Parts: sequence; C-alpha cells; structure tokens
Amino acid sequence: MKRIYMDYAATTPVDDRVLKVMLPYFNESYGNASEIHSLGLEAKEAMEESREKVADILNSGSDRIFFTSGATESNNLALKGAAFASKKKRHIIVSSIEHHCVLDSAMWLKSRGFDLSLLPVDKQGIVDPADVKRMIRDDTLLVSVMHSNNEIGVLEPISEIGEICQEKGVYLHSDAVQSVGKVPVDVEKLGVDLLSASSHKLYGPKGVGALYVREDVNIEPLSHGGGHEHGMRSGTENVAGVVGFGEACRIAKVEMLVEEPKLINLRDRLISRILEIKDTRLNGHPTKRLPNNTNFSFKYIEGESLLLKLDDKGVAASSGSACSSTSSDPSHVLLAIGLKPEDARGSLRLTLGRWTSREEVNYVLEILPEVVEELRLLSPLAK
Ligand SMILES: *Cc1c(COP(=O)(O)O)cnc(C)c1O
Repeated sequence: MKRIYMDYAATTPVDDRVLKVMLPYFNESYGNASEIHSLGLEAKEAMEESREKVADILNSGSDRIFFTSGATESNNLALKGAAFASKKKRHIIVSSIEHHCVLDSAMWLKSRGFDLSLLPVDKQGIVDPADVKRMIRDDTLLVSVMHSNNEIGVLEPISEIGEICQEKGVYLHSDAVQSVGKVPVDVEKLGVDLLSASSHKLYGPKGVGALYVREDVNIEPLSHGGGHEHGMRSGTENVAGVVGFGEACRIAKVEMLVEEPKLINLRDRLISRILEIKDTRLNGHPTKRLPNNTNFSFKYIEGESLLLKLDDKGVAASSGSACSSTSSDPSHVLLAIGLKPEDARGSLRLTLGRWTSREEVNYVLEILPEVVEELRLLSPLAK
C-alpha cells in the first residue's frame, strides 16, 4: 500500500542532503569539540559553521545561538532559566495555547512560587496584544507567546507584542518551532529576547534544537558541568546532530521561497474541499496560518477512530498534537478557541511538507468524505 505522510508538524523525515553532511561526524570526524587536537578542532569548526547557518535563518548573531537537545529543552531553559536568574520579578505571562513544554514549565514555576497569568486567545486562536499590555505588571519578568501554533497553525502577532514588551522592559520569549523554515522568522523584526527552534521539524535530525538569547538577557543554566555552549548548557555536543540542524536551516532558507507558495496552494485546496463535507469546521484562522497546516473538526465522530481509519488507507495524520494523542483529554488549544469538548475530540490535523504532492492531496480528498460518512453512520452521537 502507498503511504502518505500528512503529519509534518509532528516530525519530518531527514532530508537526504542533510543526512549526507552529517554522516562523517559519526565515524570520521568524531572528535570531541572541546579537545584541542585536530579531530576536536574539526568538530568545533563544524559546530561553529552550523551555528552560523542557524543564526542566518533567524537573522541573529551566531554568538547568540545556543544548541540544546531540542525545543522542549530550549523552552524549559528559556522560562526556568530566566526565572532562576531573576532577583525581584516573579510574574510570568504565557499564552493559553502554548505547547505543553512551555505551559508545563510555567505551571511548574508557579508551583515554586512564581506568579502566572494565562493570556486568552480569540476564536481563531490569536492573542490580542492589548491583553499583553494590560496584563504586564511592575513585577512581570517574561511573556511567552509562540510564533505559530503546532495544532491549528495560527500565526501570532509577535512583532506587535515585541514592541509592547520592549517598551515595558519585559523579556519576550517565542516558541518558533513550527515557523522556522516555513515562514520568515527574524529575531530583530520580531523584537524577541528569546526564541526556540527544533531541527526535526525542518528536515533535520531529532534530538537537537537551539535557543536564541539576546545579549544582556540573564539566563541561569539548567545543566552544569563542563561549561559547554559558553556555560549555557553543559554536556558534550551532539556534533553530527548540530551539523544536520545547520544544513537543514541553510536548505530551508533557500527553498522556503518556492515551498511556501506551493504549500499554500495545496493547503487551500484541502481546506476548501474538506469544508464541503457537512458539519465540518476549520480550526484556526483562514489565512493567518502556517502554509502547511490544516485542522478540522467533524461533528459526531472521534478523532482517534478517524486516525485509525485513515491509517488503514495509508494516510498518517494527527488529531490534536502528538504529545496529547496518548491521552484522551481534548486538546487545550481547541478548548481555548471555544470548541465544545466533543467537537474538540472530533478533530483532524493534516500537515503538509516538502514532499507532499498534488496526487497525495487528491487521494486524501477522495477517501476522507467516505471515511467521515462511515464513522458517522456508526456514531451514537449522530442523529
Ligand atoms: C515539536 C514542538 C516542540 C518540541 O520540540 P522537540 O524538539 O520535539 O522537543 C515545542 N514546541 C512546538 C510548537 C512544537 O511543535
């Protein structure tokens, strides 16, 4: 059976070109980047070259990029690191539709005595910068709003929020995992102080990511030891992973220009055709959304049964986010935009990527209405 992958927001395959540049760093240039012999220097140089490629796609200085084990760690480091480094300010603000690694870090800080405020979003998932302005207090340390949401693909007004935060002297962190490589992400234009990215969401390997830290932002490291990454994150570097991440960024920066319009075209074809199915809604904003994201709710059905049926027909998709698909709790993102729990459970996320073809989209459009109809016939929820 043909396999169709429409879950690029969960992870992406490693691009062959990325894999190729990584391979020598496993068994030829395998040096420890901290050592001064030539194998160590080779590794070190490869790391620094990669740092420049990551910095380049974000328009930052390469000395402001710190490699981590992925965006979960970057987000933990941004929130907890800023909190631990803060002497007086004890209040943080995060949006209610953040990825769990931001939300749970914030909740954990709350359990340790920090004050936490959750930013609401509108029916399409967008944060109102006026709410940010209103919620900032004298003791606010940091605001965290994601660049784009991993479930409903909505793009947030980060540069407007950035202006407010700059004016008030509050750090702004943005989880830009889903945006980097798909839409322009420029730390200067956005006015962010901290920004997280992950390699495996843009055709690089899993287990590597980065945190951008603006100069003079105080971050207490979470991992102590050999003082790697200028003391920000001790631990022997994942050289091959970092090399892959850098190359993935270099390729994405170039190919974004052609990929973005192609994806928008396929995305909008999916959206307009799927909305022809009765009792179906699009979650998120129709245009302020990632070029590769679609998210629907079908009344009267369970997302999980839908995923299994689609998998039977060779289509890999997702309901809610990958991280929440192990629990049957409805997605906090869909609840935050006002869906009833039963409608939030009947959701389907189809995310496209570098190798999605028009034929694949057509196949999904062909089978999906039948699958939805079949499930509704069986559903006790349907009248
Ligand atoms: C995938 C994802 C993460 C987690 O990144 P990892 O590198 O897998 O730890 C964080 N935030 C968002 C928005 C994501 O999509």
